[in-house]
Amino acid sequence: MKIAVVGIGVAGAFLMNQLSGFHDIHVKGFERMPEKEHDAVCAWATCDNIMKDYAKVCGLNFDDYILHDGKQMKVDVGEGIESGKYIKINLKGMISYDKLKLIQDMIKGTDITFEKSPNKKTLEQDFDVIIDSTGFHRHYLPKLKNELWIPCVQYKVKYQNVPFDDFYLKAFPSLSGYFWYFPLGNGYAHIGSGDFKRKQTHAFMDTFMKKYPCEILKKVGRPVRITPPSKCLPFTDGNKTIGVGESIGTVYALLGEGIIPSTICAQLFVDNLYDKEKYISEVLSTFKIYSNVYNFIRKSIDKKFNIIKDFVELLKIYNYMKSSEDRFGMEINMLNMMKLTKI
Ligand SMILES: Cc1cc2nc3c(=O)[nH]c(=O)nc-3n(C[C@H](O)[C@H](O)[C@H](O)COP(=O)(O)OP(=O)(O)OC[C@H]3O[C@@H](n4cnc5c(N)ncnc54)[C@H](O)[C@@H]3O)c2cc1C
Repeated sequence: MKIAVVGIGVAGAFLMNQLSGFHDIHVKGFERMPEKEHDAVCAWATCDNIMKDYAKVCGLNFDDYILHDGKQMKVDVGEGIESGKYIKINLKGMISYDKLKLIQDMIKGTDITFEKSPNKKTLEQDFDVIIDSTGFHRHYLPKLKNELWIPCVQYKVKYQNVPFDDFYLKAFPSLSGYFWYFPLGNGYAHIGSGDFKRKQTHAFMDTFMKKYPCEILKKVGRPVRITPPSKCLPFTDGNKTIGVGESIGTVYALLGEGIIPSTICAQLFVDNLYDKEKYISEVLSTFKIYSNVYNFIRKSIDKKFNIIKDFVELLKIYNYMKSSEDRFGMEINMLNMMKLTKI
């Protein structure tokens, strides 16, 4: 079987690594960026407890990529960090890591053409299966209607004196987004902001940088898909193309977190390589809760969330996260969730 993997982000890199080992498969990757400019646009935060296993199946040691090991995250819910009235979230596995280096090591020795976004017709002539792992772009799959995505900007920066020694978030009103400061070790950090309403993004970034001057090393901007898998159907074009990763909505919308979900999705694809229908049903069942999270966010940004009427929905999300503390790498606390819904 000849497989094309188009888009070499977390999902594409994992697929290249895993599928290249199958004896009856010829796999070829394509990435639109030139190899020297290939980047992993992302804040690089994830959970060690989960990623170490995925790195291990790829023959890599995740510890080699960790840049900062989180202990406690401060979440400013509106009163300013100086007020002392911020949420403290104890971390148990949340880290920042060199995402680009891990991708580069996962694809070592595999067959990838960079600086190429192949034409779909050519792909269909040359391959039996075309995997769309182009992330937000979903380039080879049918376009979706009524999509929800959050525009983001992010800077890689360097500080002489770091403003925080650990992860910091500032939540925007009505859960319309947040600002993040994620340490990358040795004075480096990713600072960024995503806001559905686009009002806070630049304003808060500017305020933060005036308060904590730094050297800007790189500026990027990209939206994150919030639409969950259940609303990203179809996952195929009805022919040879099938989506894996953010292209089919595997982002945990409450946190804008897509590294682990997209890797899980890629693993589901590998596990069900010869059964497309089973892959689709497993993605839908694995990421079922993402639809509840999406409904919650939709209501919050439309100012229609009502703590009494929607308590059951919130409880489902809480129970899921509470039972998955190791997966999220942080302690989950109902009081904190309630505080966040009130801002
Ligand atoms: C600013 C920002 C910060 C984020 N921070 C975090 C975080 O800290 N933690 C976390 O878990 N998630 C984070 N996310 C989300 C996470 O980065 C993504 O959900 C995840 O990387 C999706 O993985 P993927 O492999 O599906 O797609 P991507 O990682 O987006 O990879 C897609 C690849 O496809 C390539 N491509 C696109 N179009 C084409 C084409 N037509 N032809 C060929 N190649 C193409 C792209 O260049 C890219 O290399 C963040 C996202 C953004 C935008």
